[in-house]
Amino acid sequence: MSTRHLIERLEQSGVLSKEEFVELISTSADEDKEYAKQRARDIGDAYFGKKIYVRGLIEFTNYCKNDCLYCGIRRSNGNAERYRLTEEEILSCCEEGEQLGFRTFVLQGGEDAYYTDERMVELIHKIKERHPDCALTLSIGERERESYEKFFRAGADRYLLRHETASDSHYRQLHPSEMSLAHRKNCLRQLKEIGFQTGCGFMVGSPGQTAETLAEDFLFIHELQPEMVGIGPFIPHQDTQFANEAQGALEQTLFLLSLLRIMQKDLLLPATTALATIHPTGREQGILAGANVLMPNLSPVNVRDKYSLYDGKVCTGDEAAECRNCLQRRVEGIGYEIVVERGDHPSRH
Ligand code: SAH
Repeated sequence: MSTRHLIERLEQSGVLSKEEFVELISTSADEDKEYAKQRARDIGDAYFGKKIYVRGLIEFTNYCKNDCLYCGIRRSNGNAERYRLTEEEILSCCEEGEQLGFRTFVLQGGEDAYYTDERMVELIHKIKERHPDCALTLSIGERERESYEKFFRAGADRYLLRHETASDSHYRQLHPSEMSLAHRKNCLRQLKEIGFQTGCGFMVGSPGQTAETLAEDFLFIHELQPEMVGIGPFIPHQDTQFANEAQGALEQTLFLLSLLRIMQKDLLLPATTALATIHPTGREQGILAGANVLMPNLSPVNVRDKYSLYDGKVCTGDEAAECRNCLQRRVEGIGYEIVVERGDHPSRH
């Protein structure tokens, strides 16, 4: 049965009931997926033109106190070779990044106790001092409200914290019992309240995910009204208990990207590295399905392969400048252009 009427209503009213989301997400009608893709691209073009924003991703530590079952840098993975960039190394990534045309840096890492609030605040100050025209995004997991407030006062602009799944029982399938969805959601609400441009998100095709859990994700996103949503396929990592699980599917990821664009029209929506990992033109297809952000790696090449969240990650050998040029060609090849801008959420312009 066609679900086109649901796509139309999602566009008009910005939300559906849980049952309707389940029906839409589990549709197998190719023409509906094609229709969603076209609407998503038209909406994206109407809000952002042909502009694609880029963020320089700096994976600055792979030490982590958490033990998320899917993640290659989980604390119990004794095979992970741990590293931590020094402040100097991070600053030189930013330096190179600015020269390459990046106006947003994303500091992402495991939950690493070495990077205390004080160290983070000092780092944020230094980056913002040297790069006053650049936005700074943090993606360092769950912290106390006071810590988030300090980071914001120090000058951080945005925060990425994927909720991973909005279903309690699914969350428990993916995480050890000491972690909780309620706490993670609470962090996201605090980040929004403090004033960060906030991103949540989830993996597509993670073990235990169903149309129902995805419907809950969409309802949670509607409730939170984040400025960004990061989604990408789940990809198994050999050193985890999910090593033999299937990876998330390209088509499903593209369809969900489109539905997100249709639901929340001005979202900052990345075509992720995980998407590029499962298909050679994953990023381009992501853009054509509604994404408007790319987050290439700015980390030093000698640590790239150590930030191994999942197997087979692409672009671990390329210098930042090569990455930048390669993306430029790819984006231009589909009629879009990478812009040298901070790329804030439209509500912040
Ligand atoms: N520690 C930070 C950053 C996590 S890494 C935090 O807690 O937010 C960034 C994202 O990578 C995670 O949120 C997760 O959604 C994704 N990820 C982790 N393992 C993955 C895997 N095996 N396949 C695909 N994505 C994965």
